[in-house]
Amino acid sequence: MTSYIEEFNRIEKPKDYYDNLFAQLEKLNEEYHAFNVINNKTNPGFLFSTKANICVKGFETDAGSKMLKGYVPSFNATAVERILSDKKFAFAGVTAMDEFGFGTFGTNTEVCARNAFDREYAAGGSSSGAAVAVALMKYQVSVAESTGGSIATPAALNGVVGFTPTYGAVSRYGLIDYANSLDKIGVMARSSDDARIVFDMMRGRDDYDTTCAVDKITAERRKKIFVINGMLEKADPSIKTAFEKLLNRLGSTYEITHVDSSIMEMAIAPYYIIAMAEASTNLAKYTGYKYGLMSEDFYKQYNEFFTDARENFGIEAKRRILLGTFIRSESVKDKYYTKALVIRGMLIREMDRMLKEGYILSPTLPIKAPRISDVKKLSPVESYSMDLFTIPPNLGGFPHISFPYDYVDGMPLGAQLVTGHGNDHAILDFVKEWEEGFEYKYKQNLGEL
Ligand code: GLN
Repeated sequence: MTSYIEEFNRIEKPKDYYDNLFAQLEKLNEEYHAFNVINNKTNPGFLFSTKANICVKGFETDAGSKMLKGYVPSFNATAVERILSDKKFAFAGVTAMDEFGFGTFGTNTEVCARNAFDREYAAGGSSSGAAVAVALMKYQVSVAESTGGSIATPAALNGVVGFTPTYGAVSRYGLIDYANSLDKIGVMARSSDDARIVFDMMRGRDDYDTTCAVDKITAERRKKIFVINGMLEKADPSIKTAFEKLLNRLGSTYEITHVDSSIMEMAIAPYYIIAMAEASTNLAKYTGYKYGLMSEDFYKQYNEFFTDARENFGIEAKRRILLGTFIRSESVKDKYYTKALVIRGMLIREMDRMLKEGYILSPTLPIKAPRISDVKKLSPVESYSMDLFTIPPNLGGFPHISFPYDYVDGMPLGAQLVTGHGNDHAILDFVKEWEEGFEYKYKQNLGEL
């Protein structure tokens, strides 16, 4: 598969190319709501968008929350600054997301993005608009962010490539935090080549983020692929069947090894404990005083003022503030938070051992894209359980990539490949090989804008 970025730079563009493109995009966006903001006055160049929690100077960056309505950053996130420093790229706009990244389907926000294949279906989350934008537009890449699967999930549900780098490979400066020990900026694109180009532009040390310390990126190829038995058992039968077909195809090149890992199977609980604990501290600053939507009602009492301001949080954000604050409280923190950290350490060691020898491959989600109306019927715990496969690599900070490989009932399916810390280029190589070597039919169903 070619790089769309390179193809775009080669093709002749008519004079009214951008006017036409943005006129069509604005129309499409009324139906799909991929973008919160469209920058129709952009410079010429290959378009890139940013998830609404990545700061872009002069553009409303509200992290999908009413609390940050009207917040217009006065600076660029490092990742954005680095892309913009290449004049061949141009900023397309800000994409829709679940409030502060809290969600798996993109529905936890005021106006939610729609699946590019069928608007009745969920786009996936939390980087919902980012994936829909790539699926609708041929010459556009989306800069997104993942805490527990927010790049892989929507990429899978919209039939595009979603790449999440090693934790600390891309600076988080200018990212509106969800959970600092888990957040990673990554990229969604139509091909692994394009994901690599953008990743290589964004990554590398940054004085503004001391956790951005991963310099050396390798491409060590593995011959072995691990599949975790107990996890696959939890997937929908239609997903299992499609995934087993994929394994059969890969079996001619790779040694497929089925193993058990109870620690990976139980990763959802420690993830949500850690993520909520961190989220609750990050959200504490939004009091409507220095940060967050400011109320004009200064006559109010102290408690009343802050309580009212915090009404601007959505239901899922409130749930996470309550649970996260409880988890961190003195009387229970060892029971939950400390224990979760211990399990996280065990998970990293176990996955690390496997990833020295091979990749880990799974479906990206245990289900195909659900209808938006069905997502609304899920309980919080049911919804969290859909992160079964995406959580282990995110909790461990391991690079992973979701790539489209099949369809069920006309909706695309993604598979998730994981490798060891810093071996990011290897999984991009793997997907490139997949794109080139196999019957590759998903492309024809994507938008041509
Ligand atoms: N669904 C997960 C959560 O709600 C992951 C979201 C994310 O990666 N931002 O925490």
